[in-house]
Amino acid sequence: MREIGRGPSSGGKAPILLEVDDDARLVVGLDLGEEHFAGSLVNLRGEIRRTVELAVDGRDGDAALGLVFELLDQLLDGTTAPLLGIGIGTPGLVDSRTGTIRRAVNLDWRDLPLGEIVAERYAVPVNVANDSQAAALAEYTYAGGDRVPNLIAIRVGRGVGAGLILRGALFQGDGSGAGEIGHTVVDDHGALCSCGRTGCLETVAGMRAIEARAAAAKGRETDLEAVRTAADAGEAWATEIVDDAGAALGKAIAALVGALDVQRIVLLGPVTALGDRWLSAVRREAGSRALALLVDDVDIQVGRQTTNVVVRGASSLLVARELGLSLVR
Ligand SMILES: [Zn+2]
Repeated sequence: MREIGRGPSSGGKAPILLEVDDDARLVVGLDLGEEHFAGSLVNLRGEIRRTVELAVDGRDGDAALGLVFELLDQLLDGTTAPLLGIGIGTPGLVDSRTGTIRRAVNLDWRDLPLGEIVAERYAVPVNVANDSQAAALAEYTYAGGDRVPNLIAIRVGRGVGAGLILRGALFQGDGSGAGEIGHTVVDDHGALCSCGRTGCLETVAGMRAIEARAAAAKGRETDLEAVRTAADAGEAWATEIVDDAGAALGKAIAALVGALDVQRIVLLGPVTALGDRWLSAVRREAGSRALALLVDDVDIQVGRQTTNVVVRGASSLLVARELGLSLVR
């Protein structure tokens, strides 16, 4: 940031005008995603300068932590601009105050002090947040003229998680776990979940559940694109899967709308690939399960930012914490 003169005085001393020098300092944003760990170097305007992506290939525990280091080493290799810090978006329940991952089922991380470990190794400030919360912040930050003060972003991939933006700020709750809706039981007689319970939202609406049902119906591995194509063509096995997955998510949304009366719901993540039929099922179920007066004006849409949304949110959170600045423009 540098001083570029003085602005008009409104009576007292004229304010100093500051301009953010684009690449004077860089931030790293990481998305520890389901299939890939991705990271970007981002400048203080939120512009991405370099991106590296590494396949997870089933790694978990210490091996997954090693992959985080590898990703950071590659990203930072040859970088000369000072690094403001590292913002990390990760699946699971995260204590953002300490940067500890309390539990990330799919990566087999439990009480992992990721923030501390990374801060020590790279000697910069680190902020760790849940990936859905980071994504929600990015949806808010980069909404441009369409920005609204309250929004709920829901990421639907292997896991299902929501991020809540209330009055223009990320709401994390008492234990940083606000929006962790994926392990709410929606089907008392449902399938066994990775968390040990049965019938969690993830076991109906999540990517693995959808692919498993599709594989059982077709007798071979079937991805989301194939499910969508078959559902769009009206094949009963696929329409059933898509409608059920959408309806389960719609139920969860009805509960969120009932609790918070937030009207903008943005859906993100791999499962949005199921397309319009899925979106219609989500809307129909949410509409039929919440108080009509509350739900009439609710706008459920698929997010416009399909890539980098967690990376950008994680870097925004780091900048907000370190500089007290927001990347909103
Ligand atoms: Zn569960």
